[in-house]
Amino acid sequence: ERDAEPRFHVDGAVVPASEATVSVRDRGFRYGDAAFETLRTYAGDVFEWAAHADRLRATCDLLSIDHGLSDSELRRRIDETLVANDLDDAYVRLSISRGVQPGKLTPQPDVTPTVVVEVDALPRGGLEGESVWDGPATLQTVKTQRVPDRAIPARAKTHNYLNGILARLELRIDGPDGPETTADEALLLDADGAVTEGATSNVFFVDDRALHTPSLDGPVLPGITRSVVLDLAREERIPVNEGRYTPDDLRSADEVFLTNTTWELRPVSKVDGIEVGGGPVTPLLSKLFDARVEGEYY
Ligand code: PMP
Repeated sequence: ERDAEPRFHVDGAVVPASEATVSVRDRGFRYGDAAFETLRTYAGDVFEWAAHADRLRATCDLLSIDHGLSDSELRRRIDETLVANDLDDAYVRLSISRGVQPGKLTPQPDVTPTVVVEVDALPRGGLEGESVWDGPATLQTVKTQRVPDRAIPARAKTHNYLNGILARLELRIDGPDGPETTADEALLLDADGAVTEGATSNVFFVDDRALHTPSLDGPVLPGITRSVVLDLAREERIPVNEGRYTPDDLRSADEVFLTNTTWELRPVSKVDGIEVGGGPVTPLLSKLFDARVEGEYY
């Protein structure tokens, strides 16, 4: 079935990907006026669905996108798309835009949302499993500043990803055979030079066996993988600190890793070209993450 054209969910109907289109007047396209979630499924079940549903609702509330769809209706559309594509271990993208409205920039209260579910195959990954990535990542601090919370709250996961796109573009250089990247992930700092997060990931480091990650007081997306990893660390009695850190803290750390829904835990081997030593904590947390997935879904 995997050779067949993927099928996506658009405004209540499952359609072939080539027919999955939205209006050029859609505000998601015009202004990035949309909320979304990236999810994954293990054995056909959405990982941390409640947390994703909460974050999506928080984003829609913040944007005043009153879409009128229940969490269970959204979940039903995801499940329907998975079945239509015969997928068990999948990447899922759920987006809700403010849709098409009369007038220009000013949002109108009446919302006919555009709701899209896209899916793709995503085999299980992680340190021990079948790898979805090519080994440890490299991380590079960029000049692009993380959008401050008072401009666009970081807890809102919206279609506006220009901040991360500009950060990733900084990593692009001209190689002999075309564009190359100087690192796998861009590290964004706030106005005062404190570490915030990667373009699409949260960042952690380990020093003297204690785990550190930038606190959510700064402009940091409350990553669902971040939250699971913090829980696992606390259960394992690993000291956990959520604080303010500099790129130097990462460059001199014992271990550095990134988290997001698709990467799960992704070890980092270099920060700004400086080698980061390995250690026991990242593999341990990765193993605990795998065990949790194994226990809950298989
Ligand atoms: N920060 C940003 C900016 C992201 O786009 C993502 C990916 N959604 C994350 C962090 C990680 O979040 P999660 O673990 O929920 O995927």
